[in-house]
Amino acid sequence: MPFCLDGTRSVPTLSAEGDGVSEFARPGQNGEVVAVCGAGAAGMAAALAAARAGSEVCLIEAAAHVGGTVAHVLIHTIGGLFDSGGDFLNGGLAQELAELLAKSDPNVRRRRIGRTWVLSAAPEAYQAVAERLLAAEPRLTTFTSARVCAVEKSGGRLTGLQIAGPAGSFHLQTRSVVDATGTGAIARLLDNELIQDESRRAAGGFIFRLCGVAPEALAWPKGSALARALHEAVLNEALPPLCSQAWVDVGVRNDEAYVKLAVPLPDDWSDRDSEITKEAVNAQAAIVAFLQRLPGFAEARLCRTGKLGVRDGGRVSGEYCLTVDDVRQCRRFDDVACRCSWPIEYWDPQRGLTLEYLPDGQAYDIPLRALKVKGFANLWVAGKCLAADRLAQASARVAGCCWSMGEAAGRAAAR
Ligand SMILES: Cc1cc2nc3c(=O)[nH]c(=O)nc-3n(C[C@H](O)[C@H](O)[C@H](O)COP(=O)(O)OP(=O)(O)OC[C@H]3O[C@@H](n4cnc5c(N)ncnc54)[C@H](O)[C@@H]3O)c2cc1C
Repeated sequence: MPFCLDGTRSVPTLSAEGDGVSEFARPGQNGEVVAVCGAGAAGMAAALAAARAGSEVCLIEAAAHVGGTVAHVLIHTIGGLFDSGGDFLNGGLAQELAELLAKSDPNVRRRRIGRTWVLSAAPEAYQAVAERLLAAEPRLTTFTSARVCAVEKSGGRLTGLQIAGPAGSFHLQTRSVVDATGTGAIARLLDNELIQDESRRAAGGFIFRLCGVAPEALAWPKGSALARALHEAVLNEALPPLCSQAWVDVGVRNDEAYVKLAVPLPDDWSDRDSEITKEAVNAQAAIVAFLQRLPGFAEARLCRTGKLGVRDGGRVSGEYCLTVDDVRQCRRFDDVACRCSWPIEYWDPQRGLTLEYLPDGQAYDIPLRALKVKGFANLWVAGKCLAADRLAQASARVAGCCWSMGEAAGRAAAR
């Protein structure tokens, strides 16, 4: 079983034979499964929720490992789990994840950043906990290094998926599908018109972790002085322009720092990943050398580099489009899927970060209709490619909120 992440209890019949196409056969309702595409925050939650609701579920992930942006881009501050008072906003799988993370690693802690609360956790710990959660579900089979490459539809339903991996391809007959690819990849395969691509796409990001940083090197006011020093170095051309929005943050362990660079993304970013990454790696080398000359960083060394991160890879057209007005007015909906109170955190590709907070104690609803792809009875969406406008997505896309959206979409897909 070349693409199967083992640990699931029942073994699927999967082989690449003959014409390289095989049928995934497993007892489900009429041989059909709930297919969840993408094993990031939203997809993992959707798959868990659908399996716990009693469906046979296939989780399909293009990368070699599950975890998505949080695990591979290196996110160490999970937002969207807590309200402004630091209490859980949604409960459910998001809370379960946070509690398991806290049990798995003594360094995991709730942390205040500005007016928000985040869970500070190592991406590695997150990935390990997520893998354990997935492996514990007997109705869930996870395929890694497996990309959905074609879709079949009939009368407003998505009836099948074609999945390609290193050893061939196979076919899934689908009862319902959750597009949790972060880019609306499944909706795109159906019809490009279902995607809202953004000319003012939020900047992407490139994150790396330094170890050997002196504890307290970033304590206030040293952190602000460092941000100023970086800014001045860019103005003086001692650092490349890509470092102009650099943010250096305390890590999960006290000898670590995480550095985030903002990386503007051209329209054809998906074809130019390696070229954009190369430029970011050059900026990384320059900033590490610069930091090593500052107090507290003399012994600092690069210990992990994340993949290029995409904040907004395109959003689908849904039965409802969540708007920035809904967010600002903390609107409630009858078909609430989950709640979110994260600020509108928009990374303008030219001007940098703007943050617009919701009033303390307030949150808005994400309606289930914003997780339902327009015109398809059995196609759901969850995570950062939900149906939302640019600024609403800049709030709703945080990882904790993606877990809660995924849970709601997974339950709906299982019904
Ligand atoms: C630079 C950066 C910094 C961020 N900082 C924070 C932060 O500090 N705190 C926070 O909470 N959030 C942060 N976020 C946002 C947050 O991490 C993401 O919005 C969220 O994790 C997205 O989850 P998702 O499940 O929607 O998508 P993803 O995690 O991107 O998962 C999508 C998955 O789908 C897979 N996939 C794509 N196409 C296919 C296909 N055709 N077939 C199969 N699989 C496919 C991908 O490989 C991927 O694993 C940040 C994002 C970025 C980019």
